[in-house]
Amino acid sequence: MISHEQITPVLIVGGGPVGLALAGDLGWRGIACLLIEQSDGSIYQPRMDLVGVRTMEFCRRWGLVGAVEASPYPRDYAQDNIYLTSLTGYELGRERFPGIGQAPPPPESPQRRERCPQNMFDPILQAFAASQKSVRLRYRTRLVSFTQDAERVIATVENAETGAREDIAARYIVGCDGARSLTRETLGIRMLGNPVLTYTTNVIFRCPHLLALHDKGKAYRHIFIGPEGTWATIVAINGRDQWRFSLIGSAEQRDYTTDDIKAAIRRAVGRDFEFEILSVLPWVRRELVAENLRNGRGFIAGDAAHMMSPTGGFGMNTGIGDAVDLCWKLAATLQGWGGEHLLDSYTRERQPVGARNVAEASGNLRRMLSVGAHPDIADDTPAGAATRAKVGPAFTEMMRREWFTLGIHLGYRYEGSPICWPDGTAPPPDEARKYVPVARPGHRAPHAWLADGRSTLDLFGRGFVLLGFDAAAGEAEPLLAAARNRGVPLEFVARNEPQVAALYERKFVLVRPDGHVAWRNDRMPAEPLCVIDVVRGATEAPVASVAGVGWVSAAGA
Ligand SMILES: Cc1cc2nc3c(=O)[nH]c(=O)nc-3n(C[C@H](O)[C@H](O)[C@H](O)COP(=O)(O)OP(=O)(O)OC[C@H]3O[C@@H](n4cnc5c(N)ncnc54)[C@H](O)[C@@H]3O)c2cc1C
Repeated sequence: MISHEQITPVLIVGGGPVGLALAGDLGWRGIACLLIEQSDGSIYQPRMDLVGVRTMEFCRRWGLVGAVEASPYPRDYAQDNIYLTSLTGYELGRERFPGIGQAPPPPESPQRRERCPQNMFDPILQAFAASQKSVRLRYRTRLVSFTQDAERVIATVENAETGAREDIAARYIVGCDGARSLTRETLGIRMLGNPVLTYTTNVIFRCPHLLALHDKGKAYRHIFIGPEGTWATIVAINGRDQWRFSLIGSAEQRDYTTDDIKAAIRRAVGRDFEFEILSVLPWVRRELVAENLRNGRGFIAGDAAHMMSPTGGFGMNTGIGDAVDLCWKLAATLQGWGGEHLLDSYTRERQPVGARNVAEASGNLRRMLSVGAHPDIADDTPAGAATRAKVGPAFTEMMRREWFTLGIHLGYRYEGSPICWPDGTAPPPDEARKYVPVARPGHRAPHAWLADGRSTLDLFGRGFVLLGFDAAAGEAEPLLAAARNRGVPLEFVARNEPQVAALYERKFVLVRPDGHVAWRNDRMPAEPLCVIDVVRGATEAPVASVAGVGWVSAAGA
């Protein structure tokens, strides 16, 4: 018999970056949770290394920027992407990027993207989660099965060392258990899309003197184009002595011997040399997105909810976006002020973002592989030179879409969300490269520097924030009173900076705890309770609204 006190509010399955971010953010909101992870937390083969600008904005909120900047990846290591026949062969093109520490943040954000490989980033998230009083992390603990009813979830977990099993009761379970998610399977959630794009083999090898073996200089990524087309990549995984070689492969499964792998690495470098293979990871590149992110008391986030090609570096960043969207909704529900539709809005908001990013990542892969066969591309002949002169610039131009993705990281929006009140304005285009800062309901509340040196983003995070530009004292009272009435944490922040007011476009802008705009208008709503009930998920937002009027309610209020 499990007593009420023994019920964990949130059980998180999986201690990868998404589970750790979820645990950390829940803890940051004062919500008790238990994270179980089947492994001991060691990372043998780091996968992600690009921490996108939006994830860095969350790190800023959580106080983790200093830790990321202090991680051991050398901040002056040039981040060029080079296209070449081999490291000692012909360079076909190059996109130059300075070292991470030498690149200023884009004007649209207080943060820059970072290069912080998973074996450096996960420990930062882990320390963040572990430092929250209400968070418990249990490693070497595997989810075996779970059931749910109207009241709770009962999960059976197993100690990986002793095999001992026990039952854990929770109000909610969140599966951050990766591509082969048992949580997803148990919840009966289908994945849609293409289960195999390529069978790829990743190899981490150590070679401290690799840079001395060729004349191409420091770069982050090398993409190798041979007579058959694009066939492999090497990335500078720690900016020192370790490199990740990736044999891209195809949709046909193939096994490689160690000798095959060594020969392929030597082919990419273009000469014989000594190196040490540290790990080999065959993996399947997929293009899948979950049909739904919730079933009853169970949710999925991260790779459990979307599997995408790493081309673009969107996977973890999308997953951390899921975690941030879900956390405040779980917190609101557990604290009693979240309405009955709030948790359902998680799927409505995040599933389309997952689908969008999965599609963009596959597009990046297709572009990278589209170069096709050029039998003479590496030949030291006039015909070979002519091929290189044709292929190189075209490839360089085409690949830019993958390297410049501010629109992907900052431009996602929750169009049609049931908890955002549409204001009748048209959305800006959703483009990979271009991000248009806008404070339309559903969008990330945009960044601007405040007179006191903070970013607008520093105002958001704990509860709702009502921004009032040039508002007289007491003018915001109707909405503040409505929030008090419903127990919704809402802080009023008066600002007078004209350039911030111009960016936000309305006198009053209501920003959610995740930093997205929920509602805006030049005047207080005639029925403020109606607005508060929509944004806390008690009633659904109107399907459409009238431009200029901005808050015609579903009931016509
Ligand atoms: C080569 C490569 C490069 C990449 N580069 C980037 C990049 O630069 N940027 C980016 O954003 N993304 C990148 N990605 C994608 C990124 O690595 C993933 O999206 C990210 O790791 C997903 O995090 P997650 O926490 O959802 O899942 P995972 O990292 O897969 O973690 C899931 C965790 O759940 C645990 N688990 C599973 N089942 C159970 C169970 N039953 N009980 C207990 N624990 C369980 C696992 O042990 C694991 O620790 C890359 C991927 C690859 C392959």
